[in-house]
Order: sequence, then C-alpha cells, then structure tokens
Amino acid sequence: MRREKIAAVLASEKIGAKTTVMGWIKTKRESKGGFSFIELNDGSCLGNLQIIADKGLPNYREEILRLQTGCSICISGTLVASPGKKQKVELRAEKIKVIGWADPARYPLQKKRHSFEFLRTIAHLRPRTNTFGAVARVRNAMSFAVHAFFQERGFIYVHTPIITGSDCEGAGETFKVTAFDLESVPKKEGHVDFEKDFFGQPANLTVSGQLEAEAYALSMGDVYTFGPTFRAENSNTPRHLAEFWMIEPEMAFCDLDGAIELAEEFLKYIFRYVLENCKEDMQFFTRFIDPGAIKNLEKLVSSHFERITYTEAVKILSKMNEAFEFPVQWGSDIQAEHERYLCEKVFRGPVVVTDYPKQIKPFYMKLNEDGKTVKAMDVLVPKIGEIIGGSQREDDHDTLYNRMKETNISPEDYWWYLELREFGSAPHSGFGLGFERLIQYVTGLSNIRDVIPFPRTPGNVNF
Ligand code: ATP
Ligand code: MN
Repeated sequence: MRREKIAAVLASEKIGAKTTVMGWIKTKRESKGGFSFIELNDGSCLGNLQIIADKGLPNYREEILRLQTGCSICISGTLVASPGKKQKVELRAEKIKVIGWADPARYPLQKKRHSFEFLRTIAHLRPRTNTFGAVARVRNAMSFAVHAFFQERGFIYVHTPIITGSDCEGAGETFKVTAFDLESVPKKEGHVDFEKDFFGQPANLTVSGQLEAEAYALSMGDVYTFGPTFRAENSNTPRHLAEFWMIEPEMAFCDLDGAIELAEEFLKYIFRYVLENCKEDMQFFTRFIDPGAIKNLEKLVSSHFERITYTEAVKILSKMNEAFEFPVQWGSDIQAEHERYLCEKVFRGPVVVTDYPKQIKPFYMKLNEDGKTVKAMDVLVPKIGEIIGGSQREDDHDTLYNRMKETNISPEDYWWYLELREFGSAPHSGFGLGFERLIQYVTGLSNIRDVIPFPRTPGNVNF
C-alpha cells in the first residue's frame, strides 16, 4: 500500500491524477443526493483533504455511512477541481477501505473545540487536533533549524551524558539515579551507602550539558548539545517542566561578545526559518492563539539587539517610577518583571544584559577585572523576559579554584573540569537556551505543557 501525503496532494493540485491517501477522519457529513463528504487529515499539514464518497461505492451502506470522526481509512480515487473556496482540489473516491473504527460513544475528540486542560489528560490523542498537530510540525521544523544553523557554521554536535555524577552549578533540584531497591536501601553509619549503588557514588539526571560541552569545545573548537535536561524543581508554573530540551553551544577562542553575536544570529535564523517554512501553521497560531504570532517574529528578525550592562540596567530601572513587586537594587537578581519592562517599555525590542554581579551567577563565569562582576549575558525578549543565558567561562585555573571554594563547590568533584584549565586552557564562551520556551515564543502558547508532546510536571508522569 503506497500512500501519498495530503500535504503533497494539496500542493500538487494535479486535477485528473489518481492517488491513494490514508488518514483519520476529522469530520464527515451526508448530503441529500447520496453523497458523503469526508475531511481527512494525515498529520502532514494543517489542511484536510476533502473526500467525496457517493452511494455507488460497494461498501457505501454497510461501512461508509457508519464512518465517524476518528476512524482511519484508505482512499483511492481521482483528484478533481473543488467548487469550494477552502481548497483547490478534492478527491473523488473510487475505493474506500476502513482501516480502524473509532466508537463515537468513546472517542473523546467529538467537539470542535476542547480546553487545553482537557487535552492534557489525553496527550496520546491531542496530536489529532489542529493546535497540537501544528505545534508538532513547528517543533519539528525548529529542531531541524537548530541543527542546520550549527552545522552550516561547522559546529560539532556532541551527545553529553544524561546521567552525571556532578550537579553542574546546582541549577535547581536534581533527580537521583539509583539501582537500589528503595524498600531496603543499604546504610552505613546511618547514611545511605552509595558505595554499594550501581555507580559507587550518588548519581543524578543532568540539569545541563555545559560542563561536558566545554571539554569538547576545548578539543573540537565549536560544539553544541541539543538534548533533554531534568529539574526536580517543584515549580508549578506555565514556564517550567521537569523534563525539557536544551540547546547549548560552546565555542573555544571566543569571548563574551562572540557568544552574544551568535545568540542574536541564532534567534534570527530560527525565526526566519519558521516564517519561511511553517506559513500555514503560523497563520493558524495567529488566528487562534496569539494575534501577534507572525508579527512578533518578523519584528524580532529585523530588530537590533540593544546591549547594556547590569549596572546600567539597574540605574535605568531605579530611575523609573514604577511599582515593581521586587525592588531593584545592585546585587540582587533582575526579575522577570524587570526584564519585560526593559524590553517592552524602555527599549521596545530585545535587550542583552551583561556583566552581572558575581554573587548572583554560577562559579564558572569569567571574573571581570573589577573583581565584582562576571562576563555573563542574558538575552531578554518582549513578553518572555530571559530567553538565553550565557557567559564567557573562567579559563584561569586559580581564579576558578577560588570561585569554587567561595561558592562551596568541591574542587575534588570537578577535578577534570579544573584540569581543562591546566592543559591548553583557552578563552571560551557559550550559552543555554530552553527549547520549549523558544517554541512558546514562536507559537504564542502560554503554557509550556502544550509545546512538548508528553509534559512531565510535578505529579504528572503519565499524561
Ligand atoms: P528560570 O529562572 O526561568 O527558572 P533558570 O535561571 O533556572 O530559569 P538556566 O539554569 O539558566 O535557567 O537554564 C537555561 C535555560 O533553560 C533557561 O533560559 C530556560 O530557557 C530553560 N529552562 C530552565 N528551567 C526550565 C524548566 N524547568 N523548564 C523548561 N525550561 C527551563
Ligand atoms: Mn530555574
């Protein structure tokens, strides 16, 4: 059974051609003259192919009349010009084979519209809806664009480990990895005896691939990771998942400015790619999810990324007579409300904030000559705030060692990371970007649970 994808059929507009398509019935209605009209979708595009089945088909009475939303069918027929406005071609069925029935009493996607909350409870079926089909296609296109961007620039794709012995920067809580029988965990002097566990020491799921990516950058030059990361933070917000995908480029012989330039090029490349390759789905998001979806991307692609230091940002924010929930004060973190204010009210576009106080940033960021700030950069965009966080990394062995001591990180645990600063150390920089936050920005979907196929959040690991 050879099938043609509906996307190809609709694009070809080959009137008179024979074809075979397979898919799932979106809707079906009967007309008086003994015709059935079926809207068929196969996931290849947002649009449905209209099928006309007439009573002359041998199984019209026994099967076609009984077909309902959700059934899967195979149709062979001839493409004809459509009298309707929505599509140029439709398929006149010569043979329809029922592949899978869907009991209308039990199939949950009967209504035209369902709430996102309800659809999260049927994550196995929600890709059959227009919204989740569109998200899946845009997510796919964006994944491809991420690789295309880095590959075109000669970056090497590195698979960093999912299970690690270090918890990087302590970015959020980690999930423990163990082979112990949790009913009878070996103890020694009242504590868990990790020497008896699979790895002979505590282990956890990675929160970031950065440290290992640095090792490869200091051999391969320009590298990137694009893989899953895990955080057991119990934050039930529309922007946090327990399992999410992260993009982390790392470049040797590159300073902070180089990382900022790459971040700007990267965002513009991805957005341009989506605008050019996901037109139909982006029009859908603009119509039903966020009226600004396309305009926001177009604006960002042609915008200039403003650059200011953290110190300047604090000065600007404290001059504004704005009642922020969190006070602005040199030395404390800039909150999402401040980030959005800078982008939306002050600069009216993306802003890169650099040189943060060392006490609010991780140990591995390169110390500036003032001894107080680090070569960090956050890319802020309207509506979201921080979308990218990065830095130049500390490449001086002794400074890094001292920063570890200052921040209570054990140098013994990171012996290999320190060694990279002993053998051919070099300036290097990189950044991290949460893939789902990027998809939220593109699609306008307000809840992060709706841009990943099977979201993992506190209390929710099935659906
Ligand atoms: P936030 O303050 O929003 O929790 P963070 O400061 O913990 O973010 P980083 O540790 O810098 O974030 O992680 C890099 C990127 O990963 C962030 O910019 C964000 O896009 C994304 N990210 C972080 N935590 C999550 C999460 N729980 N779910 C989805 N994406 C996340
Ligand atoms: Mn966090």
